[in-house]
Amino acid sequence: MKQSIKKAAVIGSGVMGSGIAAHLANVGIPTILLDIVPNKLTSEEEQKGLTLSDKAIRNKFTNTAVQKLLKQKPAPLTSKSNLALIEAGNLEDDIAKIADCDWVIEVIVENLEIKKQLFEKVDAHRKPGSIISSNTSGISIEAMAEGRSEDFKKNFLGTHFFNPPRYLKLLEVIPTKDTSHEVVSFIKTFGEDVLGKGIVLAKDTPNFIANRIGTYGLLVTVNEMLEGGYSVGEVDSVTGPAIGRPKSATFRTLDVVGLDTFIHVANNVYEKVEGKEQEVFRIPDFMNKMKEKGWLGSKSGQGFFLKKGKEILELNPETLEYDARKKLKTPALEMSKQAKGYSNKMKALVYADDRAGNLIWSILAPVLSYSAELLGEIADDIVAIDQAMKWGFGWDHGPFETWDAIGLEESVLKMKEDGIAVPKWVDEMLANGHRSFYQKDGGTTLFYDNGTYKALEVNPKVVHLKTLKETKGVIKKNSGASLIDLGDDVALLEFQSPNNAIGLDIIQMVNYALEEVDKNYKGLVVGNQGKNFCVGANLAMILMEAQDDNYFEIEMVVKHFQQAMMNIKYSSKPVVAAPFGMTLGGGTEICLPTSQLQASSETYMGLVEVGVGLIPGGGGNKELYMKHLSSMPQGLEFDLQKVANKVFEQIATAKVSTSAAEARDLHLLNNKDQISFNGDHLIHDAKQAVTSLYDAGYTAPVRRKVPVVGETGYATLMLGAHNMQYSGFISEHDLKIAKKLAYVIAGGNVPFGTEVDEQYLLDLEREAFLSLVGEAKSQQRMQHMLVKGKPLRN
Ligand code: NAD
Repeated sequence: MKQSIKKAAVIGSGVMGSGIAAHLANVGIPTILLDIVPNKLTSEEEQKGLTLSDKAIRNKFTNTAVQKLLKQKPAPLTSKSNLALIEAGNLEDDIAKIADCDWVIEVIVENLEIKKQLFEKVDAHRKPGSIISSNTSGISIEAMAEGRSEDFKKNFLGTHFFNPPRYLKLLEVIPTKDTSHEVVSFIKTFGEDVLGKGIVLAKDTPNFIANRIGTYGLLVTVNEMLEGGYSVGEVDSVTGPAIGRPKSATFRTLDVVGLDTFIHVANNVYEKVEGKEQEVFRIPDFMNKMKEKGWLGSKSGQGFFLKKGKEILELNPETLEYDARKKLKTPALEMSKQAKGYSNKMKALVYADDRAGNLIWSILAPVLSYSAELLGEIADDIVAIDQAMKWGFGWDHGPFETWDAIGLEESVLKMKEDGIAVPKWVDEMLANGHRSFYQKDGGTTLFYDNGTYKALEVNPKVVHLKTLKETKGVIKKNSGASLIDLGDDVALLEFQSPNNAIGLDIIQMVNYALEEVDKNYKGLVVGNQGKNFCVGANLAMILMEAQDDNYFEIEMVVKHFQQAMMNIKYSSKPVVAAPFGMTLGGGTEICLPTSQLQASSETYMGLVEVGVGLIPGGGGNKELYMKHLSSMPQGLEFDLQKVANKVFEQIATAKVSTSAAEARDLHLLNNKDQISFNGDHLIHDAKQAVTSLYDAGYTAPVRRKVPVVGETGYATLMLGAHNMQYSGFISEHDLKIAKKLAYVIAGGNVPFGTEVDEQYLLDLEREAFLSLVGEAKSQQRMQHMLVKGKPLRN
């Protein structure tokens, strides 16, 4: 039977359960959320005359959890409307409903006996063949299934999501010896393709992969801090981006996770291991004291750090008082900063004999050795360990990749000098002349496994543009962009300017790409694999030209930009843009005219030009208006003014979507645009979209006139803007920008309902853009954004 998940049940509506239910709803799966029934009423409930048999009380835990989803930050839901897919219930009245579910996920308290009792109940009500899984952080999966039916055991496994489930990529899948291969393989594919997760197969051992190594690393760091006399702030200043890890580094990560959760997870290993390893998992006294005092981190307002007014203070582990935050500054750190590439940056640190170098070496080396020690016990290969650490903890490089980067031979020598145990298999590997864990063979990556190198499994849905360029070269390249052959007659235009900002070089490459595609390809993908799709037009260039009074130059660039966007829109071949992450201003403008969008679910998109004192200049106003118009019901009357109002408001308030789903609510995406839940599949999905459009006989859209609201519509738009200014919500300069924007959206001085052509609207837009560029206050806004990275309200 072919498996699918049409409906799911999540049992336990705490932090993780509600987050998992939200993520299932995000991907469109109706989900029942169940929890226990409260056994007493609060005095407030009693006063209201409620009883324990009232539905509102019986579903209290899940109802509260569902409502909380709307308020949590970062948002667990990609669109508020997804809430409709979650049905709240309780374990006494609604357990029979799990008989309709294809997947039941247990996310209740971390207690083996309680979990076992629940599974007994689940076993009695589930339908045969349905999948059951536990989200436990570390309890044995096999032990939980003890006493259950054959069919239960066959369909039971661990699915360990990380917090928060929408955003953290890692999903550890933990089968038992009884789990059927089909179930494991189904969950792997479903987790990757539908839930968008990075799947790592883990063994049924305490804390599985990421938390086992992660907690070890954190505790090694705490101990080194105490022994080496470093401060909390000093440690954080070097254990974040300086070594390719998230900004939250060590102690801010702990504050976010919560000290109680961390101690619970660490104790779980402590109880199950022995000897030297166990000693590392012993929680230092000062951390237990912090827990007693309730200094758990963000959730209790203080932890390793305390915010006092604008100042952030760090905890002194000896005195348990908060001091001014310190940072490490050493020559090795400076050298590392100057060095190019991860390998050189890391070598500059780990082999340097100063306070930063010594700290990094002494926290890194034991983690590398520990990871190697656990190979075979927690995971089958080094790739699983590297991926778990990257996806679960946001590290840029896994332990074995890092070990290669600092030089395996050199570092093993140093480990031995320092008395750090090196696992036997690593010694043997070196003795046999193998000097790295990974190797490249043309476009294939090989990894070391049991005495030989094996080719890394190629996932056809994961396209690596860097590798593609290394092996196949580029069709053409300039300072801002490359044109690449994606294979199967599809080309890709990749931005590669700083922050992927759009300048003349990218615009030129757009035109070249369209000509080339017209002659030789089925279509074009506009995509890249940078940090963000594109943060906008090259503001520095615009400001510089404006300050030099070079308006002729700016007008020329804007004209070219507009023309290139029109060329995209009317290309004879399909053009699919693949936005992800920040897709702002010009980044959105390049998406709007394409034949179709293939957006990552995590796309933060919007026309934000007002924030820098401008309005969109590359056709964005017109395209967003037309996209709104295209969503109106065909053949039915609608209120044109309302459409203009909406577009005006969206651009005037620089509205940015918090997901692709919300971008759809904002009409930045329409019904034919698609969403990829797995960001790693984005380029592949976009390529498929090009191929489908081409195969369906794609032709360029027909040029149509655009109905506008004209002079009277402009007056209506401005009414709202004036009101905002009278009430003090917007500044005088905001009002000036609003005026220009309203004029462009309204289509200028024409009667209501006039049908104008696109070029006319582009000319209005360009004029308005240029006049705003010349405004001193707009230039101040641009300057502020470039220097401070945030908008100025003047
Ligand atoms: P939580 O305390 O926020 O929620 C636990 C839920 O279980 C509560 O809603 C509670 O009402 C319910 N519950 C309590 N007793 C129950 C019972 N007898 N029967 C049914 N439900 C009961 O906990 P959480 O952080 O969401 O953790 C849930 C599970 O997920 C645990 O196994 C935990 O180890 C695991 N986990 C947690 C995290 C994390 O970061 N918090 C991450 C990964 C995995």
